[in-house]
Amino acid sequence: MSSSARTRRPLAAGNWKMHKTLAEAQALAREIMAGCRDMAAEVALAPPFTALSIVAQEISGSAIRLAAQDVFWENQGAYTGAISPGMLLDVGCRYVIIGHSERRQYFGETDETVNKKIKAALGVGLAPIVCIGETLAQREAQETLNVITTQLAQGLAGLLPEEMSRLVLAYEPVWAIGTGRTATPEQAQEVHRFIRQWLTEQAGPEVAQGLRILYGGSVTPDNIRELSQAPDIDGALVGGASLKAASFLKIVAMGE
Ligand code: PEP
Repeated sequence: MSSSARTRRPLAAGNWKMHKTLAEAQALAREIMAGCRDMAAEVALAPPFTALSIVAQEISGSAIRLAAQDVFWENQGAYTGAISPGMLLDVGCRYVIIGHSERRQYFGETDETVNKKIKAALGVGLAPIVCIGETLAQREAQETLNVITTQLAQGLAGLLPEEMSRLVLAYEPVWAIGTGRTATPEQAQEVHRFIRQWLTEQAGPEVAQGLRILYGGSVTPDNIRELSQAPDIDGALVGGASLKAASFLKIVAMGE
């Protein structure tokens, strides 16, 4: 079942990945803040851990939300190099990206660790932005919807409908991330509709209709309008184009 995206406020989340010094992060946050008053979309910025604090200060008092790019599932202890959900809350995060394909590819993230992280994040009141998506080989083998089903079933295992309602999902085909090759609105909509149908079956129509499903993968000012007009696409998770205020602000405006 699909529905009008207009009932869900779109979210534009900028994933800065491993970019930006403190000074650069501060300047970018300032420029974005200056340019995004009265936007229809909610805006979230995900700087690297080192810049969370300075970006938090910069956007304080505004409607822009802070997001982290990853989290560990324990709340404290001898876990060298890890950052806990409580620490993210403490620095001012509202959102945390979990299960990004780069975490899966380079850092051994699995659906099981995604599941633990989601539960830990929800436990302190953070809203997870959960990333799922197929590789090119999986798409070419017609495996896309099976892969998505497995990622959803394992990644969201054991969540109550109320907990699911606090998630944001991001469909990010791996072949479209950082490649300049975007899914067509039809390709993306097909998967988004499938995800919403899965949610309807698992958590009921109310949760499914309320939950935002972002698209991610080479989103630019040139393709956001068409993508965001698809009925089940509720905004974007943006990598490369979020590193410059001008391009990110056009995406935040959803091409209007
Ligand atoms: C991402 O990292 O989530 C992403 C979608 O990157 P890009 O926009 O650069 O493809």
